[in-house]
Amino acid sequence: MTKPKVKNVRFRNDRLRLKLTDQCNLRCPFCHYEGARKTAPASPDDPLLGRTLRRLKNHYRIVWLTGGEPTLYENLPEMIGLIRDLGYEADMTSNGVFDLDRVGDSLARLGWLNISFHSLSPVYVRKLVPRGSDVGRTIDIIRANIAALKSRVPLAINAVVGREDEGQRIRDIHEYAREEQIPLKLVPDWRCVDEARRLILRFLREEKYRLGEVVHIHPGSNVRKVYFNGDRTYKVEFKDIVPFRPDFLCRDCDRRETCIECFAFIRLEGRPLKARLCIHKPPVGMGEFFEIFEAHIRPLQEECAYDLDYALNYRLDERPDAPGLAPAEGGGRKG
Ligand code: SF4
Ligand code: SF4
Repeated sequence: MTKPKVKNVRFRNDRLRLKLTDQCNLRCPFCHYEGARKTAPASPDDPLLGRTLRRLKNHYRIVWLTGGEPTLYENLPEMIGLIRDLGYEADMTSNGVFDLDRVGDSLARLGWLNISFHSLSPVYVRKLVPRGSDVGRTIDIIRANIAALKSRVPLAINAVVGREDEGQRIRDIHEYAREEQIPLKLVPDWRCVDEARRLILRFLREEKYRLGEVVHIHPGSNVRKVYFNGDRTYKVEFKDIVPFRPDFLCRDCDRRETCIECFAFIRLEGRPLKARLCIHKPPVGMGEFFEIFEAHIRPLQEECAYDLDYALNYRLDERPDAPGLAPAEGGGRKG
C-alpha cells in the first residue's frame, strides 16, 4: 500500500500576540507569562496601540489575546471592539476558568478561541490550581464553558503535554475532545520538550493517526504537524518547534544553544505599548521595534507569499466575513 502524501506548507506568520493582563486564576508550573511578568495591562485607550495596529495592518491579520488569563482583563469588550474596528480578527487563548455570564458575549465576538485544558485527572489538575482550590469544580467549570461556547465561537482544546509519570492521561483528554468534536492541539511542555515530544508521537502512533500536513509558520519556529485519524473525520495538531534564530535577534545571544521557543511571534504588551521579540529578552519601545520590523522582519515575512484562502480554510470552511490581509508585495515562494 502506498503511503498517503504529506502536504508541506510554508505559511506566512499572520498573527500578533497582545498580552492583556498579568493576572491569572491558575498557577501552571510551565507558564512563561509571555516573558513579561509584572507588566502593566495593555489599554484600548493607549494611542500607541491604535497607531501600531494601524501601521501593521497590511502585514498581520490576527491579534491573538493572551495573558495571564485574558478573560480577567477588565476592558475586554473595548479591546476586542478596537481590534475588530481596525480590521483584525481577534482570537484568544484562555484557561477556560471564567464566569460565562460576565465574558460570554465578548468571547462570542472572537474569531477563534483556544482553551488550554490539559487534563481531566484531578491528580494532575491539582498541580495547576492555587492551593486550596476545589479541583473537581475547576474541571467542571472548564467543561461547562466549553459545552456552552462551542456553538458560539470556533474553538480548539490546547493540552500542554508533560512527563509520562505526571498522571496527565492525554488519552482521556483526547477522548473527550473527539467526543465533543473539538480539534485538539498537543503542545510539548518546554521544560521537558524531548520527553513530551516522544510521548505525543507514541500516543499518535498507538491511536493510528497519520501525519497529513506540516505547516511551517514563517518567519518563526512554529511548526504545526496535523495528524488525521483513519477515516479523516478527526484531526490532532502537534505543535512542534524547529529552531528559528534570525541573526538580527540571536547573533550574539548567550542563550543560543538553550532557548526553546526561539523566534516565534511578535508580542505586544504594556502601557505605553512595547514589543517583545523573544520571551527571554526585554521588550523594546515601538520606535525601535519599527526600525527592526522594516529592516529585518518584514523582508523575512515577504519571503513567503500569503495564501489567504489557505489561512481561512486551515481552521474553518465557513469564514466569509473574516477580515482580509493585503497580499505580499513582491514575489516569493508560495505555500
Ligand atoms: S493559565 Fe496560562 S497564564 Fe495562567 S498560569 Fe496557566 S499557563 Fe500561565
Ligand atoms: S534566547 Fe531569544 S535572542 Fe537568544 S537565541 Fe533564543 S530567540 Fe534568539
